[in-house]
Amino acid sequence: MALIVQKYGGTSVGSPERIKAVARRVAKWRRAGHDVVLAVSAMSGETNRLLGLAKEIQAQPDPRELDVIAATGEQVTIGLASMALMALGVKARSYTGAQVRVVTDSAFTKARILSIDEQRLRADLAAGIVPVVAGFQGIDEAGNITTLGRGGSDTTGVALAAALGADECQIFTDVDGVYTTDPRIEPDARRLRTVTFEEMLEMASLGSKVLQIRSVEFAGKYRVRLRVLSSLTDPDIPIEVEAQSGTLITFEEDDNMEQAIISGIAFSRDEAKLTVMGVPDRPGIAYAILGPVGDANIDVDMIIQNASVEGLTDFSFTVPRNDYARALGILESVKQHIGARAIVGDNKICKVSMVGVGMRSHVGIASSMFRCLAEEGINIQMISTSEIKISVVVDEKYMELAVRVLHKAFDLDQTPA
Ligand code: ADP
Ligand code: ASP
Ligand code: MG
Repeated sequence: MALIVQKYGGTSVGSPERIKAVARRVAKWRRAGHDVVLAVSAMSGETNRLLGLAKEIQAQPDPRELDVIAATGEQVTIGLASMALMALGVKARSYTGAQVRVVTDSAFTKARILSIDEQRLRADLAAGIVPVVAGFQGIDEAGNITTLGRGGSDTTGVALAAALGADECQIFTDVDGVYTTDPRIEPDARRLRTVTFEEMLEMASLGSKVLQIRSVEFAGKYRVRLRVLSSLTDPDIPIEVEAQSGTLITFEEDDNMEQAIISGIAFSRDEAKLTVMGVPDRPGIAYAILGPVGDANIDVDMIIQNASVEGLTDFSFTVPRNDYARALGILESVKQHIGARAIVGDNKICKVSMVGVGMRSHVGIASSMFRCLAEEGINIQMISTSEIKISVVVDEKYMELAVRVLHKAFDLDQTPA
């Protein structure tokens, strides 16, 4: 008998029928003697709808009130899922984040979980009750409702599994696992049977939305066994089959694993580039430019500084697209002080990244990637690498083409030998 946390995403609870299917699946695991804790998202489209409503009232919505509104989506699905379980004779009880006491910091719209009080959940499990917990939400020390950032129900699921010491956290979604790239962009993408935790962390941070990055971080920190699998299969498929399905995030690179050099391709449109032109190339200049940007809580990602010509240099960096206008404003305000000739920006860029632990032991991957993009006439604007990834910034209009040609060139559609 195991303790399993099952998280169901928006599509998986997107209609009463889907919620009934979730209940059947959970009932199956209960009948087999397992303890189950559920974490659910809002119905698909609902969080967007709620955020849209808020924007109709306030163009720049108040973050505290925004979280009060956004958190309601999950309050509906916990009630519905509990009812669907009861209808099948499974004892169930719904909990908002505040009721459990999922305590977070006070960073509205992107709060971090600080602690989870698992007492009530344990008492329910001991009484044969399935606790159904609202994903994506928590409460801060002062009692304010908070949310964990888009896709945050994944993190709720993994954090619950960590707090309860669950045997596995199963992320049920609308694809049957983690693929070599988003199957919506590349139909030939292939499901990975396993992916290492490190690779998953890179893929999530580089834009693969299948798991929220913080959920992967949590899984790493607390060693939660994490699996991504489909909620669209027949809910009555045998448990032995379901338990082995999808993609397992592993902590070991064992010999039985697929030996690909590249495991996946991630991409992100959530990027914008800023260039400060003609600044004096002197100590402290990077700080003078990036200091104010960091002070405004804007994440800076890739950075390049050109060689200086006659003591002047150009300095470029990327920021999340949402922060583009703000970052541009900050640079304009410090332009005189730093002695820049011009500030230019481009928010029509994207980042395409190849990820794989096999890169550690193989040389020449970067040059093959660059050649492949060159052959398609795709200009690379920025490059960054780490031990297990290579990222390039290219014009947004080439994003899908870049993903597809790289997927093909690196044989990601083929099962590794
Ligand atoms: P949920 O609502 O269940 O949380 P999401 O939409 O957040 O679902 O995540 C699942 C989606 O992630 C898939 O439908 C797929 O389009 C997308 N995705 C992006 N990259 C990948 C990948 N490498 N493997 C699988 N799915 C991916
Ligand atoms: N409902 C939230 C969102 O749409 C959280 C989630 O689905 O994980 O972002
Ligand atoms: Mg999601």
